[in-house]
Amino acid sequence: MRLLVVEDDKDLNRQIVTALAQAGYAVDHAFDGEEGWFLGDTEPYDAVVLDLGLPKKDGVSILSEWRRAGRTMPVLILTARDRWSDKVQGFDAGADDYVAKPFHIEEILARLRALLRRAAGHATSEFRCGPVLLDARAGRVSVDGSPVKLTSHEYRLLSYLMHHAGRIVSRGEIVEHLYDQDFDRDSNTIEVFVGRLRKKLGVEIIQTVRGLGYILAASETEDKGAKPRRIEPSSGS
Ligand code: CA
Repeated sequence: MRLLVVEDDKDLNRQIVTALAQAGYAVDHAFDGEEGWFLGDTEPYDAVVLDLGLPKKDGVSILSEWRRAGRTMPVLILTARDRWSDKVQGFDAGADDYVAKPFHIEEILARLRALLRRAAGHATSEFRCGPVLLDARAGRVSVDGSPVKLTSHEYRLLSYLMHHAGRIVSRGEIVEHLYDQDFDRDSNTIEVFVGRLRKKLGVEIIQTVRGLGYILAASETEDKGAKPRRIEPSSGS
């Protein structure tokens, strides 16, 4: 999942970006309204944290323009405490949720998780596919109840596929949502990540759709053990 943070307070911006990156998201940031608007207009973010009071272009204008241009990503606005009119304007402009300053970073994280899962049409922060369980709140993955240790990129990849289960996701799309803009992107690495994920999960939930990409599909029956775990040869790699 790739997020954008638009906040002109540099310290606050850095704090939010750091917390989001630690939580496993790819994060881009902007310090003024024009750059923020531009990034949100041109990059496919999964969600945006948008301060309302910004230099060059205010948050409400940015949001209205995104919505008019058909940008539907969830947007969490940051408002000054006790400015109810900010919230009303923000929601009218198309905000999905708000956090009033000052806030605890955990609240931003929790609200973003909720926005992301709602955008995926999901009621809880636990995503299941066959025997694989991804707990977006704890940032943990398990197979048949046994924890699986993933790198942050593997986790991001699985999380993105889980949020879009049942739909074909192209390699190009994965690249756009896995890395921040400063990352040297290469869609060939996705195949490598998918290979590692398959190996670590030990179950075949990520299917390759030749020429199109990947699809996360649970086995027909959700019965435990209905699908045998793939046994990887222990030598040769
Ligand atoms: Ca501000």
